[in-house]
Amino acid sequence: MTIPQPLFSFDNTYAREMDGFYVPWQGAAVPSPELVLLNEVLARDLGLDPAALKAADAARIFTGTESPAGAAPLAQVYAGHQFGGFSPRLGDGRALLIGEVIDQAGQRRDIQLKGSGPTPFSRGGDGKAVIGPVLREYVIGEAMHALGIPTTRALAAATTGETIYRDGPKSGAVLTRVASSHLRVGTFQYFAARGETDKVRQLADYAIERHDPDLASEADKYILLLRCVIDRQAALIAEWLLVGFVHGVMNTDNTAISGETIDYGPCAFLDAYDPEAVFSSIDHGGRYAFARQPVLAQWNLARFAECLVPLIDPDDADRAVERATEELNRFAETYQDRWLAGMRAKLGLTTALDGDLALAGGLLDIMQAQRADHTLVFRRLGEAARGNDDALLTLFQTPDTPADWLRQWRDRLAKENADPGTTAKRMATVNPAYIPRNHTVEDALSAAEHGDYGPVHALLAAVTKPFDERDELAPYAQPAPADFGPYMTFCGT
Ligand code: AMP
Ligand code: MG
Repeated sequence: MTIPQPLFSFDNTYAREMDGFYVPWQGAAVPSPELVLLNEVLARDLGLDPAALKAADAARIFTGTESPAGAAPLAQVYAGHQFGGFSPRLGDGRALLIGEVIDQAGQRRDIQLKGSGPTPFSRGGDGKAVIGPVLREYVIGEAMHALGIPTTRALAAATTGETIYRDGPKSGAVLTRVASSHLRVGTFQYFAARGETDKVRQLADYAIERHDPDLASEADKYILLLRCVIDRQAALIAEWLLVGFVHGVMNTDNTAISGETIDYGPCAFLDAYDPEAVFSSIDHGGRYAFARQPVLAQWNLARFAECLVPLIDPDDADRAVERATEELNRFAETYQDRWLAGMRAKLGLTTALDGDLALAGGLLDIMQAQRADHTLVFRRLGEAARGNDDALLTLFQTPDTPADWLRQWRDRLAKENADPGTTAKRMATVNPAYIPRNHTVEDALSAAEHGDYGPVHALLAAVTKPFDERDELAPYAQPAPADFGPYMTFCGT
């Protein structure tokens, strides 16, 4: 007889080493667990066996009804600035870290359930999630990954058989999410706000071990940690802007130390290019509008820096603040460099010349004034590199307007002496054909709410290979029809 292997090879450092940073907790049993999506590619990357998962009734595990062998489920504590106001105690109100695994590449990854029932941090919430938002996070997270943007991943989505009331009755569901850690700026803030410097240091050391192990032996490791976190956030936000992503709820509890995009709540992608775009129903002041995201990320990082001040220089707070400020001041330049490098690639450029920033800005100004589709303009610019402008020009309300800009762009491209076909091909590897457009996401989610997962699978097929244009998926490359109207998204659902 063969002895069944455990499904997960857990190695739970947070449970083992971080006593006081969490509450051990169990998921709520649910009446009728059913696995609706399993990310088999990711499962294999994590060293899991998809067939064994299915055979073992994974739905019970992926709803939190049953704890797999070796798990040490826990709810993490954290605080956070939400829309600028500080909440000293948030924590996993509807999530459980079930454990950590080492993936095939040797990286430690958290496996977390989201929607697995109330915890001591639920603050009056029901601890549940419903199918629509669970699938939104699944689809958009996987799309972001396929676009090459650091993100938490989706391993599974399971329904619970419960009816959960939001704006009407909905099907209960749980998302299984994978992250390189769930350490947030808000995790540091929780202990810093309580004046627990030893705990902040323990957390910083743990973060270094997990994300920046090379720093562990550096005398200046805490300022260097700050620098690494700033660099990762600057790079991340640059990626968001290059692809037209609006996170929608960039609170400090949703700012990951790892530099991964986390917590896909009210997020959305731009159709028409609009720096002021806001989709979230609760973002009345436009705090997290598309073009404000770099500034807000820097604000969040300033909150992180404040937590580290007592570690940076325990004897001289003024000096520590000065050094932290120097690091924070580098954010804008790092962000700008990353964004411009990305924009050059989107424009088909392989060298850096003065004037590239103005060239990119010139195109964005026209796109904004003409409400041109962000994704399609760049995709079709690739065709224009081959000399065919027709498809591109249909995206502008007055097709004559970009003529001057196109001339400048062609002059600039000519300085590279590149073969047009090669340039076009290169551009098609950085300018996606498919993003999870809001209307396609809504259509897929509402079909799934009625039990039809076909559209979710079709959308996933498109967005998980975003650069690989396929005739049968042509509708996924199109902007929303005019009658789709202004788009609004909702939080905490
Ligand atoms: P979010 O806006 O998803 O980042 O969540 C902010 C905080 O609210 C976190 O502490 C969540 O755990 C908590 N939360 C969100 N939805 C619920 C819910 N349905 N029940 C309990 N806590 C929740
Ligand atoms: Mg959150």
